[in-house]
Amino acid sequence: MKLKIWGSRGSIPAPLTPKQLEQKIKENLQAFCQSSHFPSKNTAAFLSDQKIAAGNSFGGNTTCVELKGDKSLIIDGGSGLRLKGNELMAGDCGKGKGEVHIYMTHFHWDHLMGIPFFVPIFIPGNIIHFYSVDPNLETAIKLVFTKPYFPVPFAALASKIHFHQIPAREATNIAGFEVTPYKLDHPDPCWGARIVFNGKHYAHVVDNEGKRVSRLEMGEDLPLYQNIDLMYFDAQYSFNDLLKNVDWGHCSAFIGMDIAFREKIKKVVFTHHDPMASDDQLQKMLITDSDYYDQQKNHFEHKFEWQFAYDGLEIDI
Ligand SMILES: [Zn+2]
Ligand SMILES: [Zn+2]
Repeated sequence: MKLKIWGSRGSIPAPLTPKQLEQKIKENLQAFCQSSHFPSKNTAAFLSDQKIAAGNSFGGNTTCVELKGDKSLIIDGGSGLRLKGNELMAGDCGKGKGEVHIYMTHFHWDHLMGIPFFVPIFIPGNIIHFYSVDPNLETAIKLVFTKPYFPVPFAALASKIHFHQIPAREATNIAGFEVTPYKLDHPDPCWGARIVFNGKHYAHVVDNEGKRVSRLEMGEDLPLYQNIDLMYFDAQYSFNDLLKNVDWGHCSAFIGMDIAFREKIKKVVFTHHDPMASDDQLQKMLITDSDYYDQQKNHFEHKFEWQFAYDGLEIDI
């Protein structure tokens, strides 16, 4: 199975400002002129040597990921879903022969705002399935297509749309994936999921404040973290900011690392980046998190890989 990240920001889209882009270009031009790649004019090699924040960007779209197995399963409809829709339109969805599966963790705007701009939903012949534990699934999606919020009413959408309420903490087969939802710590009900395909286990832990850390506190939601190959974890804040933003529903990489050490998770991708954080600030957070990992790893036998999510990243699980 593969994970593709279509949107890695939390809360609200955070595109680069023209000033930030100009600054990035200036710094890259200066660095390139002083680099060993300058004589050969090998710009691609130069950029691949750069840190994400310098040579590229973490991206600005809100949360949306895709799991690729035999078919695809999309998780949440943040602004990143718009780009996934454009990709689908180049295939079967463009011919009105597509079938799309979208699992919704909850209905905060940053997880919903891409849905009215998901072009396949307007095309006759396409079939769109929405899944959620929350009984308000159908009401919440239909609300997006009401005036004055959006001009096209739900009844005018030409695709066939199905809503599926699925049970909590029980496995449901969705598009060939075994999906078991578990409750996360968030101000409104939010359901992460443990997703299994071909013997590989993925844990979706966004949006989550991580208030329950011990096994006892996690209780019936503990299996979300056990025997996991890749955990996608809400790390919107630095640990210091987490302490200032209690009950805001988001976590820090430190907590995710502690869970991963204890539960022997093989890889962790930190995401739902703070829209207030610039690329440079995220790069600084990476260094702080690195220091924390290096310090903690002396206390645990288990070691794991980890990285920050960025828009467009694709990872084999
Ligand atoms: Zn969110
Ligand atoms: Zn939320």
